[in-house]
Amino acid sequence: MRIRKISMNRRDIVLGLAAGSIIPVSGCAQNDALGRSQLQLVSQNQLMSLSQQAWTDALQRERVLRDPGYNRRLQRVGANMVSSTGMTDLDWEFVVIDSDQVNAWVLPNGKVAFYRGILDIMEEDGHIATVMGHEMGHVAGRHAAERASQQRASQIGLQIAGALLQQQGVNFDQNMAAALGAGVTYGVILPYSRQHEFEADRLGVDYMVGAGYEPHQAIDFWLAMSTLHQDASFEFMSTHPSDEARVDAMRAHIASRGYS
Ligand SMILES: [Zn+2]
Repeated sequence: MRIRKISMNRRDIVLGLAAGSIIPVSGCAQNDALGRSQLQLVSQNQLMSLSQQAWTDALQRERVLRDPGYNRRLQRVGANMVSSTGMTDLDWEFVVIDSDQVNAWVLPNGKVAFYRGILDIMEEDGHIATVMGHEMGHVAGRHAAERASQQRASQIGLQIAGALLQQQGVNFDQNMAAALGAGVTYGVILPYSRQHEFEADRLGVDYMVGAGYEPHQAIDFWLAMSTLHQDASFEFMSTHPSDEARVDAMRAHIASRGYS
């Protein structure tokens, strides 16, 4: 599928605004996993088709590791975690990429990639569950769609200003795809906001506890990650900065839930 370009002229924008179709009031949706409402201007269909495209491209570009040891581990933790999240409607897939990179990512359609490099530093299944839970938290939190929606809203804002001077298209472009979490297609994965990171951490801990893993393994893992040097192979750290505030927030969450 080619990335769709949505072109709007000034008249469309004016009509769209009048009809409320550009930034509808209903663009804010309640997210029960987060307990807050969020801007959602991206349709589920758009999200799913871009994610599918990104997944296909990633599997073509990267070398998939077939080693049964790595795969058994990832599948085992993945299956446990999916049941715990309750997001069983997605067509989950867990793939190991044969690369030294310390990285992992998930697409909104439930396609998960862990690189050999990150699995090699995960001594316990609980460490895999930590990252898996965090990534699944981004999915449940609909963070990719929220980020893309915020970007879209600001694009439209610029667009309306620009339309007074010239007729310009709103491009459903590379940045938008990256914002949707489909940026893997272009080798660009945009970092999430701090709020999204904290939310994903909390959900991740809940999911791993629900799946029977020990929550202290999340603390152990993030502490270990924060002490590793942020060299070029640490892609994961560039999109998931680990710091004291995050670890403290996780500890507070574990205590408030009464997990031990
Ligand atoms: Zn994250």
